[in-house]
Amino acid sequence: MAARPAPYLEGLNPAQREAVETLDGPVLMLAGAGTGKTRALTARIVHLLNTGRARPNEILAVTFTNKAAREMKERVGQMLGHAVEGMPWLGTFHSICVKLLRRHAELIGFDRGEGVVEDPAARVHLKSNFTILDTDDQLRLLKQLVAAAGIDDKRWPARQLAAIIDGWKNRALTPDRVPAADAGAYNRMGVELYAQYQRRLIELNAVDFGDLLLHMVTIFQAHPDVLEQYQRWFRYILVDEYQDTNVAQYLWLRLLAGAHRNICCVGDDDQSIYGWRGAEVGNILRFEKDFPGAHVVRLEQNYRSTPHILAAASNVIRGNESRLGKELWTDREGGEKVRLIGHWDGEEEARWIGEEIEAMQRGTRGMRPFGLNEIAILVRASHQMRAFEDRFLTIGLPYRVIGGPRFYERMEIRDAMAYFRVVVSPEDDLAFERIVNTPKRGLGDKAQQTIRRIARESGVSLVEGAALAVESGAIKGKGGAALRQLVGDIARWGRMTADTGHVELAEIILDESGYTAMWQNDKTPEAPGRLENLKELVSQLENFENLQGFLEHVSLIMDNDSDDADDKVSIMTLHAAKGLEFPAVFLPGWEDGLFPSQRSMDESGLKGLEEERRLAYVGITRAEELCTISFAGNRRVYGQWQSQLPSRFIDELPEEHVEVLTPPGLYGGGYGAAAAGGGIEDRAAAVDGYNSPGWKRMQARAGQRGLAQPREARNMVVDAQAVSSHAEGDRVFHQKFGYGTVTGIEGDKLEIAFEKAGTKKVVARFVTAADD
Ligand code: ATP
Ligand code: MG
Repeated sequence: MAARPAPYLEGLNPAQREAVETLDGPVLMLAGAGTGKTRALTARIVHLLNTGRARPNEILAVTFTNKAAREMKERVGQMLGHAVEGMPWLGTFHSICVKLLRRHAELIGFDRGEGVVEDPAARVHLKSNFTILDTDDQLRLLKQLVAAAGIDDKRWPARQLAAIIDGWKNRALTPDRVPAADAGAYNRMGVELYAQYQRRLIELNAVDFGDLLLHMVTIFQAHPDVLEQYQRWFRYILVDEYQDTNVAQYLWLRLLAGAHRNICCVGDDDQSIYGWRGAEVGNILRFEKDFPGAHVVRLEQNYRSTPHILAAASNVIRGNESRLGKELWTDREGGEKVRLIGHWDGEEEARWIGEEIEAMQRGTRGMRPFGLNEIAILVRASHQMRAFEDRFLTIGLPYRVIGGPRFYERMEIRDAMAYFRVVVSPEDDLAFERIVNTPKRGLGDKAQQTIRRIARESGVSLVEGAALAVESGAIKGKGGAALRQLVGDIARWGRMTADTGHVELAEIILDESGYTAMWQNDKTPEAPGRLENLKELVSQLENFENLQGFLEHVSLIMDNDSDDADDKVSIMTLHAAKGLEFPAVFLPGWEDGLFPSQRSMDESGLKGLEEERRLAYVGITRAEELCTISFAGNRRVYGQWQSQLPSRFIDELPEEHVEVLTPPGLYGGGYGAAAAGGGIEDRAAAVDGYNSPGWKRMQARAGQRGLAQPREARNMVVDAQAVSSHAEGDRVFHQKFGYGTVTGIEGDKLEIAFEKAGTKKVVARFVTAADD
């Protein structure tokens, strides 16, 4: 009689068991969301340990995030029934490569280091003490190189250079390997700077993030003895989320697995969402070519979601042309349909979700009560989080932001608020210190020390100290001129608080200080998100009477957050949600231009749009029991209302699996009525056309509630477009300054001779044509 299988195998289906028990040779588990890939991968580690095939330190297991690594370690312990004695090589690519590079850094030319470290590979290694640069250091260094080479830094902004170099590193291209096609007329200089940068890093005994993999690939390629050592050492290799590996990671794995070929990769081509960061979905598609004879396991049973949720996700992803195409099934039954709800605007959406979550805690609409830990809000863009955070802080609903700081803690938001703070209260030294050299004004540590010293000696604030420093000539040259400008600007902005609308002023401050431009010129993948956060911040100001009131609000709600409850709603981006699951998921902001993003819609070809659709698939498939998709008809961008159209992905939701909710008492059943009468197209039409009954009803209700009418909202958008066509001599109207005549145009600013207020420069968007 066959022995009973170990408990960790018992719960697996035959396909999963095959993937777990086929220990030798290459294995690829290519399967859709929630089919138990990660679970099988974890069981495979347990099986390797349990059968004595490998010791914990002989297994190389790669996860996408550190959090995923911790969880996997924990589960291995649970499945084994006892804690594992370390799994030193279970982690992300980067965390594993740091450890390896520390032992072999001298092969790249780094200091050998002083300490001698005994390591598990039973060899004595020197441990290099190279430092890992952060983005700021990296940029400073690049800037120096560009300056030293006598190159125009407008042509080669450091951030752009950093992004290009990063791209090359993701593709494992050392400077001598950048292909000619990549190094055409323009980039030849880029390659030269890249080479200089790499040399300088070695002189400094430093690496950047991309170097961790690049150097390891270089070492493995140039030193077969080192490679062999690790090929022997890492007897089994496992990789989760393989669809999002880049070329450097792929080469590194292929080198390590080259001899024994005991590599098991799991992934889902439909969940490849990091193409924008250099990931190559092609890596998973060519696995069988790279490892001939690979055992390919396909899993089709989904254990995570209800049939309605699964059907909705499957239908959306079917819209992609470039995919392998997999069908998923579940033996679960019943459950709620995917819920779809439209809101008046983004704030209303946040309010409704807050109320809905509170109702869900008690049990609502015949559903079981949900704990806050069981609920997640997944947004497309981080700036969407602000509305939820504000709302939840106001109603005291505990939440956590995963995978990034909370909105008001973000770098760009704190920078912007520091500007507002010095303008409102020039004696705010902390705020001044934060912005004095952001963007860079050539005011380094030395200049700042001088300012501090002068301020201290004269017993004045830093702003005043700075003014003294300029006047006395203590800070001269370029830095001195920039400081003079800044001090003058702060004073001028301060005076403007008296007669300029605070939303407009905020925009002027961010604009004239060069802060917005700093991010506009930034070519890193995070920059567009930061600009959107800034826009969101300015929009948010509209809700307050003045800057002061807004700053008070923020300090109050941030202060409020001292609860350390464990039961919290999770808020995160769709990107950060990969691999996770929650009983209830909210997916807000399904509007064209937000999700799919404007950039993906503007792009020619389908690549960007298909990646957005995969994000939608990732989002829906995070939900186990309840998935709620929402959109708003209006969003405020830079204080201006914009009419939004529901996301094209909403049209791709299968009607029979969707229930359209009506926000109670809000729109007089606008969507609901349309929904009852017909299919999903009618539903979309209900908000699509301004003339549809749904829209009209919204208009009417909104009017009753004293909100801006959609027509006004639309007019504002129209005005925003019209102003760019203001010509000199036009008679115009400005809310604060009244009627005037345009006397000059400079970018998006107009010089206007106002009839009562004199000549002023104002942002064009705040001006409308005067209808006489
Ligand atoms: P994703 O593509 O989203 O990363 P995945 O394929 O890695 O998903 P898992 O997270 O491993 O899927 O599993 C999804 C859920 O299904 C988990 O809650 C897991 O415990 C459960 N599960 C996996 N396999 C089985 C099984 N054989 N029987 C019951 N439940 C299972
Ligand atoms: Mg997984």
